Amino acid sequence: MKNVIIIGGGIIGLCSAYYLAKEGAKVTVIDKSDMLDGCSYGNAGMIVPSHIIPMAQPGVIHQGIKWMFNAKSPFYIKPALSIDLLAWLIQFYKNSNQEHVNKSMIPLRNLSFFSKELYQDFARSINEFGYQEKGLLMLYKTEKVGEEEMKIGKIAEKMGIEVGFLDQREVKKLEKDINVDALGAVHYKSDAHLSPNHFMAFLKAELHEMGVEMISNCSIVNFKVSEGKIEKLLTNHGNFKADEFVIAAGSWSVEIAKKLGVKLHILSGKGYSFNVENLLSKPTFPAILCEGKVAVTPLGEAVRFGGTLEITNNKDTKINIKRLQGIVEKVNQFYPDLKVDLPETKKVWHGFRPCTPTGMPIIEKSKKIQNLTIAAGHAMMGLSLAPASGKLVSELLMGKKTSIDITEFKSS
Ligand SMILES: Cc1cc2nc3c(=O)[nH]c(=O)nc-3n(C[C@H](O)[C@H](O)[C@H](O)COP(=O)(O)OP(=O)(O)OC[C@H]3O[C@@H](n4cnc5c(N)ncnc54)[C@H](O)[C@@H]3O)c2cc1C
Repeated sequence: MKNVIIIGGGIIGLCSAYYLAKEGAKVTVIDKSDMLDGCSYGNAGMIVPSHIIPMAQPGVIHQGIKWMFNAKSPFYIKPALSIDLLAWLIQFYKNSNQEHVNKSMIPLRNLSFFSKELYQDFARSINEFGYQEKGLLMLYKTEKVGEEEMKIGKIAEKMGIEVGFLDQREVKKLEKDINVDALGAVHYKSDAHLSPNHFMAFLKAELHEMGVEMISNCSIVNFKVSEGKIEKLLTNHGNFKADEFVIAAGSWSVEIAKKLGVKLHILSGKGYSFNVENLLSKPTFPAILCEGKVAVTPLGEAVRFGGTLEITNNKDTKINIKRLQGIVEKVNQFYPDLKVDLPETKKVWHGFRPCTPTGMPIIEKSKKIQNLTIAAGHAMMGLSLAPASGKLVSELLMGKKTSIDITEFKSS
């Protein structure tokens, strides 16, 4: 029986553990936190085959620079004298072109659809996590943004994604219960959503039943490597031996890989979310408010609002009030009846999206360390892509042919 240690118990680590255990491996997940509130919990819960264009794309740098000068905008890069930041920015710049987009779209679409199929399998057996296939509305207020969104929608449509182009009246027909102040929407009908907190709880319960050991509050001290293989993992909970190791530690993967002399380019993209309950009327469709990049997700009795991407380090846990105001203002502009108040900072969740400079996740066997696999860098799509990434990790480790081509999911 293969003995596997997974470092990181976010959604990527847990999905990897799930499919490995299903293949008969003995799996241990190690996490330095209490595994209750990381990036995989408070996110917007959207499953997005619609997102076929990676973050590194033409025009993104121009838009990013404009946003940098607006304190309430959804994007910011925290200036720092850091070689890692500089190296990441150079790579991001090099990848922000049409050629990169063209070669990324099909792999991303295939990974997304594979992941959605696996979510459907989970939901078929027991849907304790509010999985729903209502699609995603990209709501816009201005003609300019509408044109951009429709252009992307048409590309997606050509790639086999089910898309609806809605005018103001059609949006109103769909969202009957609430006044939506938008010019129109692109409706990605293939998208889905769920409650991330409930899905994580479901995964942990499944893993527990399958005999996967999950060790929380366990910090990695170092590795003992001999002849290009990890022999031992040294932690504050003692030493661990295994046949195979997986780094799935989100934006912390960089520092763990560094201990093994493996270079990863991943920076933290901090984002916020908060839930609002007891609303008299509320949106029933997940939406992105395009002009502010705000995510809106109905989660049972509550609605979760989320947004901002601040490129920073993962010690920067401060909640930026101006950016929070930016989210609240956009929500009230698009849904004027909601009248959402600025939440108290203690009620605001933050998480660090693990962002690569290509906008593509990394799912690969290390070239340097024989018994190391990396599954990280899923940025704003980690929940969406987790089951597929976990399944691919299990296939890589069990020496099986991968279900889809993973050539583009490599570290740069
Ligand atoms: C506001 C917001 C909204 C989002 N909305 C969506 C969405 O709608 N759909 C979507 O697909 N994605 C969304 N995302 C992105 C998604 O949440 C992430 O991509 C995903 O959670 C990343 O999962 P992960 O397992 O790679 O990392 P994480 O969830 O960060 O897990 C990494 C784990 O590694 C552990 N760790 C760190 N260092 C160590 C160490 N030294 N030793 C052991 N363990 C360690 C951490 O404690 C953590 O538990 C959103 C993110 C944000 C911030």
